[in-house]
Amino acid sequence: MKTVEIREAFLEYFEQQGHTRVPSSSLVPANDPTLLFTNAGMNQFKDTFLGADPRPYVRATSSQRCVRAGGKHNDLENVGYTARHHTFFEMLGNFSFGDYFKQDAIKFAWEFLTGTLGLPPEKLWVTCHVSDDEAEEIWVNEIGFPRERISRLDEDNFWQMGDTGPCGPCSEIFYDHGEDVPGGPPGSPDDDLDRYIEIWNLVFMQFNRDASGEMHPLPAPSVDTGMGLERIAAVMQQVHSNYEIDLFQALIGAAAKLLNVQDLEEKSLRVIADHIRSCAFLIADGVLPGNEGRGYVLRRIIRRAVRHGNKLGATEPFFHKLVTTLAEQMGGAYPELVKLQGQIDKALLTEEEQFAKTLDNGMQILEEALAGLEGKEIPGDVVFKLYDTYGFPVDLTNDIARERDLGLDMAGYDAAMAAQRARSQEGGSFKVDYNDVLKLEGQTEFTGYECTEGEGTVTALLKDGA
Ligand code: ATP
Ligand code: MG
Ligand code: MG
Ligand code: MG
Repeated sequence: MKTVEIREAFLEYFEQQGHTRVPSSSLVPANDPTLLFTNAGMNQFKDTFLGADPRPYVRATSSQRCVRAGGKHNDLENVGYTARHHTFFEMLGNFSFGDYFKQDAIKFAWEFLTGTLGLPPEKLWVTCHVSDDEAEEIWVNEIGFPRERISRLDEDNFWQMGDTGPCGPCSEIFYDHGEDVPGGPPGSPDDDLDRYIEIWNLVFMQFNRDASGEMHPLPAPSVDTGMGLERIAAVMQQVHSNYEIDLFQALIGAAAKLLNVQDLEEKSLRVIADHIRSCAFLIADGVLPGNEGRGYVLRRIIRRAVRHGNKLGATEPFFHKLVTTLAEQMGGAYPELVKLQGQIDKALLTEEEQFAKTLDNGMQILEEALAGLEGKEIPGDVVFKLYDTYGFPVDLTNDIARERDLGLDMAGYDAAMAAQRARSQEGGSFKVDYNDVLKLEGQTEFTGYECTEGEGTVTALLKDGA
């Protein structure tokens, strides 16, 4: 089953169960200052769970675009290291707003996985919250799931979208990728290896956590579920890693061709294929590379991708060219990607060209520092110089350090930063800032958002600057 077919099968199944199909919302959360990027399907329904945003339906289903980079759920550092994490992914979800609760949520999930998708029950593993006997009894008595394959966990089975907001105990479904892959079942010491991969989280929304951390019951018990589309696609396509699914193979193949790389398993290709999705979708949703907040997260992701290309021998901008393949792969579900293709390409190219001016020199400085390195940490003054003069975000330098089994001297970095601040205050207006050194040429200007009526998506309007 192709990834696009799985998405459709999911939405259709839940429509048949009386759910209203709701389009994905923007990656930039509407009216939610607590959230950096949309990180789950439930975000757009947050107020509905709280009882403040009544909808004409009590059951909904969606395939929500999500970014987990920066913010509470941050998977940026996992990309390239695990088989299952992306910065951008799609979360398939079904939601009940005070309608059905645990029993139906579990039954629907079971029926979809073992019925519609035909997964063998013996490949599945289940977890429930330590306090939630009720969920375990539903699994055992109503589904007939073997008690030996249920783990009871604490934090991992309590879901919250952020430090505040709707939350509750959850029950998760894992898929066993088989004994060829190292790792143990959930709750075992090596459960973080990728043999048993979490595919679906069923959250029993019961509380609203306030800013003081206190939990208040929601107006009505509700359900929020999330299943990673790429993870279930890997299961259905009988591959272990998400990066082996059809969609990612297309992106990896395109990147390999552009960079003239033969080995398709190359880690940097996976990182690049991951990052083009988050970067292109963030730009489509109105975020542009910048020095603060969302824009800085985007800049960090683009620069990481460009550095991985450089590592593979890129000598000219390549990253922006992947937008074409991405639009081919995902434009059907996300027409705005096709519509905004030219602007996305331009914004990426501008950032690539800007970083290209300092990347080689920065890498040279770093290599020299590493050649003379004593110990296992890159000195703070080097990390700072790379940041300040060469535009290397700290996490990018850390990405390089990690590849070589090194760490960063962050105390030294903080001290160098403080010294720089003190110097620039003494010197009045003088301040070294790599972004001044690297003036944007042909700057892309963001002019606001446009809501596409009916689609419910927010489309960014990018206008070419004069
Ligand atoms: P994990 O423990 O594997 O990091 P999670 O518990 O953080 O996943 P949830 O917050 O429960 O994930 O999100 C619901 C579902 O979304 C997960 O079961 C998984 O299928 C998918 N998912 C979560 N994070 C990612 C990611 N970074 N990339 C791809 N899919 C993801
Ligand atoms: Mg996670
Ligand atoms: Mg988890
Ligand atoms: Mg989870």
